[in-house]
Amino acid sequence: MPYDPLKSAGVTPDLPRPDSYWASMHTPASYAPLDANIHTRFAVIGAGYTGLSAALELAEAGQEVTVIDAHEIGFGCAGRNGGFVLKGTGRYTLNAIANKWGEQIALGMRDEFNDAVSLLTSRIQRYGIDCDLQPGPYLKIAHNQKSAIALQAAQEINRSKFASDETFVSASALQEHINIQHAFGGVIQPGLALNPLKLVDGYAKACHRLGVRIVTNTPVTNIANTGSGFELHTNSYKVCAERLVIASNAYTPKMFHPCVDKRQFPVQSSIIVTAPLSKAQRNATGLTRPMMMMDTRMMKYYYRMLPDGRLLFGGRGSVSAGVRGDASSRRRLEQAMVASFPALRDIKTDYFWNGWVSVSLDNLPRIMTDSNHKTGYAMGYCGSGVSFAALAGKRLAQRMLGESVDTRLPLYQDGLPIYPFAGMRRMALRALYAWAKLAE
Ligand SMILES: Cc1cc2nc3c(=O)[nH]c(=O)nc-3n(C[C@H](O)[C@H](O)[C@H](O)COP(=O)(O)OP(=O)(O)OC[C@H]3O[C@@H](n4cnc5c(N)ncnc54)[C@H](O)[C@@H]3O)c2cc1C
Repeated sequence: MPYDPLKSAGVTPDLPRPDSYWASMHTPASYAPLDANIHTRFAVIGAGYTGLSAALELAEAGQEVTVIDAHEIGFGCAGRNGGFVLKGTGRYTLNAIANKWGEQIALGMRDEFNDAVSLLTSRIQRYGIDCDLQPGPYLKIAHNQKSAIALQAAQEINRSKFASDETFVSASALQEHINIQHAFGGVIQPGLALNPLKLVDGYAKACHRLGVRIVTNTPVTNIANTGSGFELHTNSYKVCAERLVIASNAYTPKMFHPCVDKRQFPVQSSIIVTAPLSKAQRNATGLTRPMMMMDTRMMKYYYRMLPDGRLLFGGRGSVSAGVRGDASSRRRLEQAMVASFPALRDIKTDYFWNGWVSVSLDNLPRIMTDSNHKTGYAMGYCGSGVSFAALAGKRLAQRMLGESVDTRLPLYQDGLPIYPFAGMRRMALRALYAWAKLAE
C-alpha cells in the first residue's frame, strides 16, 4: 500500500522509495537504525530539510543533537520535490501580506524569503554540497487574459514596493523565450533549481560531520512527556530527550503530538519526467536551456528543463493515495503538458511519482516553540519549502535556544490553526478540484 498520511498508521521502513528521476540519479548515504536506548539533548523527528537544517544550526551552536527518521534520508518531500528554489512560502503574495498585515510586515516577510535563498546557497557553498545548482530564468505564465492583467499589476507593485527583479512580458514577447500554447503573458525573473535528493543528502552529510547522530528506519511511534523532557518510543528502543523538534511535515502520523495534530492537511502533488527532448522537439518548444516555469491556475502546473534535456512537469495529484488515482494523475499531467507543448505529443514519460505537501488552514507555515522552548515544530509550507524549510529549520533552532526572531511576523506569532471538521478535509478538497476545473 502506498503511504497515505490520513489513512496509514505512519511512515514505516518497508515503504518503497519513490520511483523518481532523482532516485535514478543518486543514492543518499545510509545511516543505521536505533540500536540501543539513548539520551540526547535535542531530538529532531524528520530527516528532511527542516529537521536537518535545525540540526545543523544546533550543532553549529555546539549542541548535542539526534535526528530520527522513520525511513531513509529524504524519504518525505525533501527527496522527491521539483527542485525549484522559490523566494517565498505558503500561498500569500507579498502584496496580499501587505493588505492583510501591513507593509512593514510584508517587508519583513520579504526579507525572510530572501534570507532563505541566501542561507540555502551559502550552506551549499560552505558545506560543499553537490546538488546540481542550476541558474536560469523563472517564468510565471498567465493562463488567461484576466491572469495576465493581474500578473502585470502584481509585478508593478512587487517592483515598486518590494524591490523585486521581476519583468512583465506580453504574450508575443514570451514566445521569444518559449513556444508555449495558451499563454497570455508572463513575468520573468532570475531563478535557481537543483537536485532535491542530492541537497538533502548533502545536509545530512554536513550534520554528520558536525557530530549529529542520525538514525534512520526508526519510526517514532509515541511521544511521552516526562515533565523534565521526552521519551520517544520506537518499535525497539527509546530516545530520552531534553528538547524535541518535530519536523515530520505532511508525513506526520495522524495523532502524534497536540502541537501538530489536525493542524496541517497533506495534499498530494505529482510529477512526470519525460525522455530527453530531441533536437526537433527542443526547437519546436523553445525548451532549449535550463528554465523554470509555473502557471497562474488555481491548481498550478510547474515545469522545468532538467540539465540532461528532459522536461519535469508537475501539478496536483489525486486526493488519496492509490493506483487508480496515480493513473489519472499521470494522464492529467501528460495531457496538460501536450496542451502547452503540442510538439511533445509523442514523447515518452520515463518517470512518475507523488509526494505529500503540508497545507496549513490559513495558507501560511508556522515556526513555533512552546513558552519554555522545549518543544518546537515548523511545517505548513504549502508546497514551497526547498529554500524556506532551510530558514525555518534555522529559525526553529534559534527559538529553541532562546534567541530572538522577528516575532512581529505571523510565521512566529501563534501555532498552526486547527482544521475544523478535520475529517471532512478530503471531501472539501474534491469539491475544490471540481470547482477549479470549471474555473479554468
Ligand atoms: C511533488 C512535490 C513537489 C514539490 N516541489 C517543490 C519545489 O519545486 N520547490 C519548493 O520550494 N518546494 C517544493 N515542494 C515542497 C517541499 O518539498 C517541502 O516543503 C519540503 O521538502 C519540506 O521539507 P521538510 O523537511 O519539512 O519535510 P519532509 O521532507 O517531508 O520530511 C519529513 C520527514 O519526516 C519523517 N517522518 C514522518 N513521520 C515520522 C515519524 N513518526 N518518525 C520519524 N520520522 C518521521 C519522514 O519519513 C520524512 O523523511 C514539493 C513537494 C512535493 C511533494
